[in-house]
Amino acid sequence: MFLKRIELQGFKSFADKSIITFDSDVTGIVGPNGCGKSNINDAIRWVLGEQSVKSLRGGNSMSDIIFSGSAQRKAVNLAEVTLVFDNTKRFFDIAYDEVEITRRLRRQNSEAEYLINKTPCRLKDITDLVMDTGLGRDSLSIITQGNISSFAEAKPEERRALFEEAAGVAKYKKRKNVSLHK
Ligand code: ATP
Ligand code: MG
Repeated sequence: MFLKRIELQGFKSFADKSIITFDSDVTGIVGPNGCGKSNINDAIRWVLGEQSVKSLRGGNSMSDIIFSGSAQRKAVNLAEVTLVFDNTKRFFDIAYDEVEITRRLRRQNSEAEYLINKTPCRLKDITDLVMDTGLGRDSLSIITQGNISSFAEAKPEERRALFEEAAGVAKYKKRKNVSLHK
């Protein structure tokens, strides 16, 4: 699976429509402090369904992720982020070569809108779509700085649990435990 492109508009520091393309398997995002690198990471997690404002480094309300203005620019009222995935290998169970997942939030309306390939859907549809791909918001597809230090400092058993999660074994272990304790 391959994230081809992220399109952001009105999300955090990305006031104007910005398109970031990923042309190779490994992409580094570099830039001075405060230029918006972590905001890109927040944007990806936001689209994949993150509901915790705090974990997106916002304040009390989800509308904190909408561009709130700067010295040069007025605030905007809409944040929209789209992730575009290559689906030629049918990683997602959808019969299209590209899968676009979009989340949109208006300042006046606390309910977000979600779309798959431009068609409105529920948050659950997105969660279901990504659940078995290892892409879920709690999965290891996004590894933060903190994760790396805790991995380096982990005990062997804890490290093994992370490998199991990454290899997709953990989910079967969880299911096994659930059925054993019923
Ligand atoms: P560092 O190298 O320090 O980790 P970074 O490149 O990761 O920096 P970010 O944390 O992505 O930087 O971006 C921080 C910037 O985003 C700050 O300047 C902050 O004012 C701006 N920002 C965050 N939320 C909003 C918002 N809702 N509206 C406007 N700007 C925002
Ligand atoms: Mg950062």
